[in-house]
Amino acid sequence: MSKGCSVTQALRVHNKIRSTKALGPGERYALWLQGCSRNCPGCMTPESQPLDGGRLISVDELAKEILATQAEGVTVSGGEPFLQAAPLLSLLKVIRQESDKSVIIYTGYYLKDLIDLGNPDIDEILGTAADIVIDGPFVEALNDGGSLKGSSNQTAHALTERYRDVIDEIYGQPRRRCEIRFNENEALLVGVPDSKSYDAWRAIFLKGKKE
Ligand code: SF4
Repeated sequence: MSKGCSVTQALRVHNKIRSTKALGPGERYALWLQGCSRNCPGCMTPESQPLDGGRLISVDELAKEILATQAEGVTVSGGEPFLQAAPLLSLLKVIRQESDKSVIIYTGYYLKDLIDLGNPDIDEILGTAADIVIDGPFVEALNDGGSLKGSSNQTAHALTERYRDVIDEIYGQPRRRCEIRFNENEALLVGVPDSKSYDAWRAIFLKGKKE
């Protein structure tokens, strides 16, 4: 169904949900990509770190699912999304070509370091396919409770005009929001929670794993 993406391309996905209001402006499709080598202490999704974990889902299938939602946009997080730059670019190109959905990406890289990699796929994502990039690794000691950012070293960059005027109202405000969503056979904590909510959730999650 999609223009410009190969049927053989796939993304290694940690998780996905069709709707959340806890990962950016409006209602959003959330896509967590699998694989990250940073091992930040306090990482909220350590299960997303193994590079061979998650499951492979074709770009076409993901595009079809995202385009079928009423969501204002898609938020891509991880894991580290830019480790899968080529298939991610293919997915985002289809979304750009076939809808007006916005695109937000969380990355553990700082923006300057991403640009310095000189990877054409990454450059194209940053140049044409993302409206906002929130950059930088999670640093537990800098977790200041700001909205939609894990720690104060992270910056929300407006790469297009879409949210430029409101970006400071969305990110880094003294409030946090998270949701518990039910997805197939599991419950997910979605968003950037405060420390208390996260610790409570983790205790429930780990207890469930032992039982
Ligand atoms: S960059 Fe994100 S996903 Fe990777 S280890 Fe750090 S907090 Fe976890």
